[in-house]
Amino acid sequence: MLQEIKQADFDNELSNHENLVLDFYSTECPPCEALAPKFDSLAEAYGKDVRFVKMFRQGNRELADALGVKSSPTLIFFKNGQQVGEILTGGIKKAEIVKNLDALLPEDKVKQIKSHIKPTVTETEVVILGGGPGGLAAGIYLAQAKVDTLLIDQNLPGGQVSTTHRVSNYPGFVDPQPGYMLSHYMAEQAKSAGVKFKVAVDVNSVDLVKKEIVVDGFETIRAKKIIISTGASPRYLNVEGEKEFHGKGISYCATCDAKYYHDKEVVIIGGGNTAVEESEFISKFASKITMIQQLPKLTANKTAQERCYNDPKIEVMLSYEPRGFYKNGADKMSVKVEDLNTHEVKTLETDGVFVFVGMKPNTDLIIDPIETDDWGYIKVDDEMRTSIPGVYAVGDVISKKYRQITTAVADGTIASIVCAKEIDQ
Ligand SMILES: Cc1cc2nc3c(=O)[nH]c(=O)nc-3n(C[C@H](O)[C@H](O)[C@H](O)COP(=O)(O)OP(=O)(O)OC[C@H]3O[C@@H](n4cnc5c(N)ncnc54)[C@H](O)[C@@H]3O)c2cc1C
Repeated sequence: MLQEIKQADFDNELSNHENLVLDFYSTECPPCEALAPKFDSLAEAYGKDVRFVKMFRQGNRELADALGVKSSPTLIFFKNGQQVGEILTGGIKKAEIVKNLDALLPEDKVKQIKSHIKPTVTETEVVILGGGPGGLAAGIYLAQAKVDTLLIDQNLPGGQVSTTHRVSNYPGFVDPQPGYMLSHYMAEQAKSAGVKFKVAVDVNSVDLVKKEIVVDGFETIRAKKIIISTGASPRYLNVEGEKEFHGKGISYCATCDAKYYHDKEVVIIGGGNTAVEESEFISKFASKITMIQQLPKLTANKTAQERCYNDPKIEVMLSYEPRGFYKNGADKMSVKVEDLNTHEVKTLETDGVFVFVGMKPNTDLIIDPIETDDWGYIKVDDEMRTSIPGVYAVGDVISKKYRQITTAVADGTIASIVCAKEIDQ
């Protein structure tokens, strides 16, 4: 169904097949590995009507460059020799591929194909839901204890660490590590220990009581135990314009977006550890940073504060709160801020905004009545058991005081040891 081709074959392939999808892959490419089983299974389902081919990017550079391929994997769709649909790259979800395949075919054909897709059921001993440091540490211990373990993540593994520009406090590394490298090492260690990965999937439902998880619409995974390690996500301010301009001038990730602000001015909302530490990174690019902190002082650790106050590019506005975000022409933003002492409202003109005002637990998919604290973080006992038998939780998603990579890894260690002991109970 799925065939490897070379660039010399491409024109022939294109003229011989009305519908074609081409996957440019590389070796040592985690998102390519995550895509491979999805591409295989879709080739099986759609293969009679769509030609599925893959090409090694490094060995076929001329065609890759001609088609504008800049990263691996990249999926490109063709109809009657013409490129159509979206170009998919990175952690590609099955639903995104299906959407583009469906667009190639008539509606009745799509219905027919879907009616033949058989739901699958996979059994495993433990499912780890979430592949950040907590989940990966749990996986390493479980796999080394010979427990059949499947790790599911809706993104690529790594969690928040993969979007952290520099980690200097994780033991074992003399020099600060780029977050994506640290998470890469953790994921590779888990994989080589024997953890199976199902990543960049759509997680459709999670039944903690029955221990059943449905992914990508048709795939049910049944386990004896579940470890929840879904972490936390940035909290929103819920201020006018925030949702509207999320990703269009407002960012929650310096590692992802600071590079777009070379020689530009930015506003940072927040004054805690993350805001102050990320301002250091943003300062490598931006020409000026205005930091808006609602409290009368920064709350980051003293060393980070010193670096912040010593950076001539950073101006800190204490006791100010954002009141609204507005577009100002195509590229500029206006930020309304209120002085909490005088109630005077000022408008700051800027090129972009970064928001770092804390986190919230990723528990949206959990519908079972699990015990949480007042902020929605899952309550666990000393051995990471939740209120639902056979379900453990670790890392930033649990109710605890300190949320760090080391604490997530420690929770994952404890949960996995306890879980392995209780596997048949
Ligand atoms: C900007 C920033 C800088 C930081 N810097 C440091 C630092 O320098 N040192 C330090 O120790 N800590 C740092 N932290 C904190 C640290 O990253 C976290 O404490 C740690 O990553 C928590 O790990 P975790 O495994 O609990 O969750 P996460 O890292 O949040 O990972 C959770 C994973 O679960 C997945 N997931 C979420 N929902 C679902 C779902 N429904 N189904 C399947 N998968 C799901 C996510 O895709 C993610 O991969 C930083 C955090 C941020 C945001």
